[in-house]
Amino acid sequence: MLHYPGSVRRGGSGPVKNMKKKLKLTKVKVSRQREIAPGVFVLSFPRIWDFTAGQVIGIGGHETDEARLYSIASGELDDEVDILYNINPEGKLTPWLALLNTADTLWVSEPFGAFASEPGNGWWIASGTGIAPFSSMLRTGLGAGKKVLHGGRNMQSFYFRDQFEAGIGENYIRCSSREDGPGVFHGRITKYLMEQPSLPVDEKYYLCGSAEMVVDVRDILIDKGVPFENIISEIYF
Ligand SMILES: Cc1cc2nc3c(=O)[nH]c(=O)nc-3n(C[C@H](O)[C@H](O)[C@H](O)COP(=O)(O)OP(=O)(O)OC[C@H]3O[C@@H](n4cnc5c(N)ncnc54)[C@H](O)[C@@H]3O)c2cc1C
Repeated sequence: MLHYPGSVRRGGSGPVKNMKKKLKLTKVKVSRQREIAPGVFVLSFPRIWDFTAGQVIGIGGHETDEARLYSIASGELDDEVDILYNINPEGKLTPWLALLNTADTLWVSEPFGAFASEPGNGWWIASGTGIAPFSSMLRTGLGAGKKVLHGGRNMQSFYFRDQFEAGIGENYIRCSSREDGPGVFHGRITKYLMEQPSLPVDEKYYLCGSAEMVVDVRDILIDKGVPFENIISEIYF
């Protein structure tokens, strides 16, 4: 049985809050679904509530399902909610989710979570689908002054690339671990950060993605003098 923790591990705030309560789900209809890279989809449905960029929702195939959590990738004022996800072939939800078409039904919770970005200078650091909350923040108008690091395996891993190139410009950096390409840093995010002679210590660093990435990046930032309280993370697991 799955239990959902609170979505946020904020720097220095201690263990994840345990949310054993099952999420209440409401029926929505899929507006559209697009495969944007092999096995990676953006699913959209009409927005039926307000939310703060960075928040997550629960999604299930039926009202009584134990929902999986997904970051909202669309902006706070967009008419539709976008969810970015990749298929986990052994998973319960995502293989089913990928089969949905326009007008099919799925069940979603209200948004929750406190992973949120301040305006102004700061770093958004993501691996894989962990770019989703930063897409939401960018589309909500929080991109000015941000440096965005996105780590992926190959050139197809940089989801929402056009949007980040247009909104962040040269401060949008793609780190590709397995494939070299034009304009891309060859190596993991951790390598990129380790190679920086210095990093601003008075800016906030927002991390989102796998536990491995978040922990490794956090350690590098701390080694480079960034105070623990300036590191704010959301772990996908
Ligand atoms: C805060 C948060 C935000 C997230 N946001 C996103 C997002 O924006 N996009 C995204 O793609 N993902 C996100 N995730 C991950 C997402 O919630 C799911 O975990 C993921 O999509 C897999 O779901 P699934 O139902 O397909 O797989 P699951 O059924 O949950 O399976 C996941 C893995 O666990 C194994 N497993 C499942 N059940 C068992 C069992 N009973 N015994 C042993 N092993 C088992 C499976 O083999 C599989 O490898 C987020 C997670 C968190 C915590």
